[in-house]
Amino acid sequence: MKKTYHGSCHCHTVRFECTIDLDAGTSKCNCSFCAKLRFWKAFIGGDALQLLAGGDNLTEYQFGSKTIRHFFCKTCGVKPFGRGELEVMGGVFYAVNLSVLDDLSQEELLAAPLQYQDGLHNNWGEVPTETRHL
Ligand SMILES: [Zn+2]
Repeated sequence: MKKTYHGSCHCHTVRFECTIDLDAGTSKCNCSFCAKLRFWKAFIGGDALQLLAGGDNLTEYQFGSKTIRHFFCKTCGVKPFGRGELEVMGGVFYAVNLSVLDDLSQEELLAAPLQYQDGLHNNWGEVPTETRHL
């Protein structure tokens, strides 16, 4: 079921709201970037996220194919979301950092389906051989 959640960085400069259907699944990936953050995310469409404050305090990082713009707060360093545009994802999409959602309960998070992706080997449809560290 789709639900609206509110997210913020650690210093609360960056605030946003987004609509997520957690029943549609969450994911963790073993790519070089996600593994360093232990990034637990949900993908949503480009129209399902609205920045409420702090847009000018966001800076971004890109690597590899530069498909995704990884945004983080200039002040506190927390990454609220990444943004990309891919045909296979239906156009513009966000990868929301579920850890920054202030009104997502632990119960809801733990009840959401979780899929692991082998991004390290560019094998997004496959589960990595080891996932316990993600
Ligand atoms: Zn911040």
